[in-house]
Amino acid sequence: MAEDIFEYLRRSPPRCLAAFGAVLQNEFEKRHVRVAEFEVSCGKCKTAKFDLGILARVWKEGTETSEIGVSATCSECGNRETLFDGTRFGYDGEHDHLAFLKGDDIESPLGGDRAVRVRVGFTYNIETSELLEHAAALNKSPQDFFDWFHVLTPGAEDWNSVWEFECA
Ligand SMILES: [Zn+2]
Repeated sequence: MAEDIFEYLRRSPPRCLAAFGAVLQNEFEKRHVRVAEFEVSCGKCKTAKFDLGILARVWKEGTETSEIGVSATCSECGNRETLFDGTRFGYDGEHDHLAFLKGDDIESPLGGDRAVRVRVGFTYNIETSELLEHAAALNKSPQDFFDWFHVLTPGAEDWNSVWEFECA
């Protein structure tokens, strides 16, 4: 019974998109790596353009700062949501591997001051059977255990990755 991670993604995006509308736009497989991309809209007013921000945190011990996530503020109604936070989402987030980075966000703009359409991509590197077993053992959803996250915005010809995070 080899189930496909795409079947789970078609039913529901990863839980970090719960506050957004999300439509699966693209899914593809390169060797054993599977990637799914969703276009997001505002969960309140359904507008599909956002001002993006990069979220960073200072390490609990020391002064080093790491980028850990992205915020999205709706260009129409101003609703602001966290689009991704590596300390809570993805493989390491689900396992709380990045607890040393929890704290207050330092936010800086991502991209220009022009509101943009946004897609987010989730990459799954581990074998699907392993992924399903892993999620079942923790009573969580397999689509939440992605190992790479990226944000795309429209470029002149295609969508370009503007921010990414290694989650495992
Ligand atoms: Zn809105």
